[in-house]
Amino acid sequence: MKAIQITRNGGPEVMEYGEVESPRPAAGQVLIDVDMAGVNYIDTYYREGIYRCALPFIPGSEGTGRVIEDPAGTIAPGTAVAWCNGPGSYAEQVVVDAERLVAVPAEIDPAVAATMLLQGMTAHYLINSIAALHEGDSCMITAGAGGVGLLATQLAASRGIRVFSVVSSAEKEKLAYAAGADTVMGYSDNLAETVRRHNGGRGVDVVFDGVGRDTFHESLEAVRPRGTVCLFGAASGPVEPFDPQLLNTHGSIFLTRPSLGAYTSDTDEFRMRAQAVTQAITDGTLNVRIGGVYPLNEAAQAHRDLQERKTTGSLVLDVSGRRGEAGLS
Ligand code: NDP
Repeated sequence: MKAIQITRNGGPEVMEYGEVESPRPAAGQVLIDVDMAGVNYIDTYYREGIYRCALPFIPGSEGTGRVIEDPAGTIAPGTAVAWCNGPGSYAEQVVVDAERLVAVPAEIDPAVAATMLLQGMTAHYLINSIAALHEGDSCMITAGAGGVGLLATQLAASRGIRVFSVVSSAEKEKLAYAAGADTVMGYSDNLAETVRRHNGGRGVDVVFDGVGRDTFHESLEAVRPRGTVCLFGAASGPVEPFDPQLLNTHGSIFLTRPSLGAYTSDTDEFRMRAQAVTQAITDGTLNVRIGGVYPLNEAAQAHRDLQERKTTGSLVLDVSGRRGEAGLS
């Protein structure tokens, strides 16, 4: 089968397109014909070696496609599925644990199905499970026009939570407002001061910071006393070690560094979040913006665009080529 393979850590140039052996399902796994794969920022951490993965490996962990073979005989061949726990998804075939497969309703576009789970369930746990956020509360979201950012903004806004979004361009500002943000700021603005000016003099209840190194200290300043800073990513690089006394001086604030894995480790919890996201997309509450569709052999370009901050919303790889053939990209 064709796949992207990484034999050494490094920049996008280490992603090689070529022929590799097809995977074989182990017990409890299902073999899938990949239609489209989701591209996530975490894929760049594995490529660079910031997150460790034995070499060589095929990047990616989510996508959509059709079941080729379920050795247990439970899922019929041809069933449309999506997944986000499928290491090696930048490939024509992948194996995924049967219990982590999600059925894709016919009305969901394959590009959306390919990218809805990882970013959608992340947005779901951020807004619903990190802190007790109620209608009228406020939050700040960095990288507010990115994949997770736009979804988290919509989920927060739909619950009546005021959103302060941070973005880097006028195009991204428009998208953040369209997703439901109340106030959109640029990184050069004084975030803490702007938040307080528009929030009755108070810091926000929760900061969701996926940017990391460049925004972390401003995030500590933008939150209210006893509020929560949720550092959930490191798009600008990992946060430098710091003195925990800072949490005291900013008003006894809470800091958490969560992962989707920990918020979906229980299969029932995984199913609850997957169901909530699928339902919200089907009923139109959640709009997944597909910001770019790339052929599989241009996966390196997708990583370049993502890391150069050129993209908005979610990115997908058209693995089967059907999207390209239909001229829909
Ligand atoms: P995005 O689509 O949000 O892309 C990353 C964005 O980060 C860019 O578009 C850019 O937006 C912003 N950014 C700010 N500074 C930089 C920089 N120096 N270099 C590159 N980008 C920068 O990606 P995802 O939606 O895939 O992921 C967003 C974050 O969420 C990532 O940090 C990711 O690791 C994290 N994540 C965490 C999960 C968890 O469970 N902990 C799960 C899923 C994702 P702008 O130009 O507006 O600043």
